[in-house]
Amino acid sequence: MKTIGLIGGMSWESTLEYYRLINERIKERLGGFHSAEIALRSIDFAEIEDMQTRGDWDAAAARLVRAAVELERGGADFALLCTNTMHKVFDAIQAGVRIPLIHIADVTGREIRARGLTRIGLLGTKFTMEQDFYKGKLEKDYGIEVLVPDPGEREDVHRIIYQELCMGVVKGASRDIYAAIIRRLQARGAQGIVLGCTEIPLLVKQEDVPIPVFDTTALHARAAADAAL
Ligand code: GLU
Repeated sequence: MKTIGLIGGMSWESTLEYYRLINERIKERLGGFHSAEIALRSIDFAEIEDMQTRGDWDAAAARLVRAAVELERGGADFALLCTNTMHKVFDAIQAGVRIPLIHIADVTGREIRARGLTRIGLLGTKFTMEQDFYKGKLEKDYGIEVLVPDPGEREDVHRIIYQELCMGVVKGASRDIYAAIIRRLQARGAQGIVLGCTEIPLLVKQEDVPIPVFDTTALHARAAADAAL
């Protein structure tokens, strides 16, 4: 079994989910007492959040390259960046190590295509919903049309991620806000919804939504476990 490297802590609420989901998948595939070989480099999210707010993506990339190098030295055979947003600096991190990184949007794009969908709604941080690094990849590499919520709705989605979900707060009222936004995306033609922030699956589950949801945390974790075997 290969050793999975996790660059985590962004936030730790979702890194916990990666740890659980990867181990559950290994157990499902191998049975018995089997569990995953994992090297975790969990970093202080306050540092990263501050760099995001200041728009200092170079500093964030440098910080994450350091974490990736430490994982490589620590024996990881490949690595995952346990956040959608920080995939903005994916190329810089990949360039800083020899081990391969599994891109969360590749895993998600492949799953959307496998399910036969061509137009999806994307929820995530404002960085993920508004910039090209994530949407552009789904569009260019997978031919998927990506719809995002209106500006006011994007504010709500973003605020709930940072002020609640990354703080471990899960509120029914916020689930209702997300559900209403998802219904409007569906009315605009979305055939499925990408939960494109690794904390959103803590709030929204498939049963809350009338169309297929793509849980990026679960898809990424599963891809890691399968790649390890
Ligand atoms: N975990 C989140 C994501 O998947 C947001 C936190 C961050 O900015 O990294 O985008």
